[in-house]
Amino acid sequence: MHILLVRFSSMGDVVLQTATVNWLRSLLGKKARFTFLTSSEFTSLLNGHPEIDHVIGFDRKKGEKWSDLVKKIDLLDENDPIDLILDLHATLRSFRLKLSFWNIPALTVDKRRWERFFLTKIRSSALKKLFSHKIFGLEPQTERIIKDFQGLFGDLRGKRRAVEFRKGPHEELTSLPALKEKLDHGNNIILAPSASFEPKRWPVDRFVLLAENILQKTPFNVIVLAGPEDHFCEAFNQINHPRFKNLQGKTSLKESMEYLAQAKICIGNDSGMNHIAEAYGVPCLTLFGPTDPLFGFAPHGSSSRFISKDLNCKPCSTTGKKACHRDRLYCMEEISVDEVFSIFVKMMEVK
Ligand code: SF4
Repeated sequence: MHILLVRFSSMGDVVLQTATVNWLRSLLGKKARFTFLTSSEFTSLLNGHPEIDHVIGFDRKKGEKWSDLVKKIDLLDENDPIDLILDLHATLRSFRLKLSFWNIPALTVDKRRWERFFLTKIRSSALKKLFSHKIFGLEPQTERIIKDFQGLFGDLRGKRRAVEFRKGPHEELTSLPALKEKLDHGNNIILAPSASFEPKRWPVDRFVLLAENILQKTPFNVIVLAGPEDHFCEAFNQINHPRFKNLQGKTSLKESMEYLAQAKICIGNDSGMNHIAEAYGVPCLTLFGPTDPLFGFAPHGSSSRFISKDLNCKPCSTTGKKACHRDRLYCMEEISVDEVFSIFVKMMEVK
């Protein structure tokens, strides 16, 4: 069986969907072939993944045409006929792809969009807690994947198998390719202050204070990882310490993965960096602002933790994109540096 999995973006979601690949491999065995279609900027996340046979990139940002993508899939289908398109994105783009290949059976994952949207409309945090998992089926995303796929693929071994999968060698569920070069990053604490949308960012001055605390009170190095657009990270330039590095805009995605793979802990917002860290089995401490762990994207590793404030206005949007409608960003500002630092210290003790 040859399955084409489709998830164009974003970085964190692409990483999370490796749980789907791992699960399908365990379900369908070595003979199944998996091709993963994603945006070209994320192919380095998946190239060399032990369970993915082929990765296809689509470079829309650099002007690659839709017809070029269709040609690539056509060629793939010619060489190894595709039995199923698994749409893990459920957007207009993935719909268009399924339309272009209407003769190939397709399944689309339920992203619980309406349920998440409805959750943003409830203004009582007690009600949200009461309703979320049971009524909306908003379990942690990686568990949801397993539950959905059991249904879709008629895995009659049912829930027991899902539990075994979670407790087995795949305990982390998500995974990324092993890195060839082992660099010595084992004493690093990674700070990941970026996020796709501004309201999802814990204020950068707090990240700076946190970095200073870690440098003063612990023996660890502190490394900042962020993308070339994240100019707000210049705030870290005030730190002048031999164990500190601000690598904002200085690493490729692959290099960032190398740092994350060997870090002690990654502390960051609800963003892709934390998902990458977890996919390498590195514990993370995730700070949630306008989004909510109830959406199912909380860290899943047993040593990972998250902080999310209990506010009636939260979650205020399904993605964190919407501008804050209050006078201040309470969801983030109520997370203090002391709180993050003390949870970090506890995580290090357990580790
Ligand atoms: S403070 Fe409330 S309204 Fe403002 S971004 Fe946070 S969750 Fe949304």
